Amino acid sequence: SQLNPALTWSQYTKALERETRKTVELTTKLRHALEAEQLELYYQPQVDLESGRIISAESLLRWNHPEMGFIPPDQFIPLAEQSQLIGPIGDWVLRRACRDLKAWKDAGLGTCPVSINVSLIQFQLGSIPDTVRRALTDFNVAPEELTLEITESVFEQHGRALKQDLEALSAMGIRLSLDDFGTGYSSLGHLKDYQFNEIKIDKSFVSQLDEGDYAQAIVKATIFIAAALGADVVAEGIEASEHITTLRQLGCTKGQGYYFSRPVPEPIWHQLLINKKVL
Ligand code: C2E
Ligand code: CA
Ligand code: CA
Ligand code: CA
Repeated sequence: SQLNPALTWSQYTKALERETRKTVELTTKLRHALEAEQLELYYQPQVDLESGRIISAESLLRWNHPEMGFIPPDQFIPLAEQSQLIGPIGDWVLRRACRDLKAWKDAGLGTCPVSINVSLIQFQLGSIPDTVRRALTDFNVAPEELTLEITESVFEQHGRALKQDLEALSAMGIRLSLDDFGTGYSSLGHLKDYQFNEIKIDKSFVSQLDEGDYAQAIVKATIFIAAALGADVVAEGIEASEHITTLRQLGCTKGQGYYFSRPVPEPIWHQLLINKKVL
């Protein structure tokens, strides 16, 4: 929530106190959420734009609080990052995704690669390559079945340790995806220093595709850069068939969005996998 700039000083400090108290309360609840099994991993299909077939899934975290209902990740992930709870929460996401992957294979649904979102703070808190290696072993998941999505903001604080971790993950065969491309700070120089297998076109560009040349130019440029890096391109936030038509014309072959399916809980995802096709 936003603080009103026209407040008097005393009103301002009171509002600030309220904000702080709310943040502390929500963080306490979040600490409890993991043990209380209030967290759930949803899945959204990533599809081949030509055939409409599911090729992979992005996992998206949900917090369902018994009284407050669903709290959006944009609200609680920042709290998790500030409180370092993102460490155990991120581990849970990783292991749940691997567990689900194994369950789909065990059910005879074949392999469906999963992308998980990983926050920069997780790299600072522990050894991600070790944690990932352990999860792969425990659930018998092959490295190429797992993609780590990292937002462009990694470049703002890129350090040697992060680079080493990303290199170790690549060497293991884990796929790396650059999320929210074009929304933050990233120099092309940095891009070539990292081995990204995939670049994701942010939904803000996809939603502007019908408004003129600007978004189309961004998409074209992204596809061009990805090709130079040998990376795949995935467009996110596809909500209309016109988006698909334009994206295909521009040479984008993979995408995800409400047009195909919203992120769904695992049992429904399981059904989608049985049908294989979402279009
Ligand atoms: P993101 O990784 O960029 O995920 C894409 C967001 O767009 C998701 O929101 C997804 O539900 C939403 N989305 C998908 N298709 C469409 C569409 O067609 N139209 C629109 N308007 N939105 C669409 P969500 O699930 O609320 O997640 C928000 C952000 O929270 C994610 O952005 C990601 O940064 C973060 N997040 C979610 N799960 C995790 C997680 O397990 N770990 C971490 N570290 N971050 C997560
Ligand atoms: Ca993502
Ligand atoms: Ca994104
Ligand atoms: Ca985002």
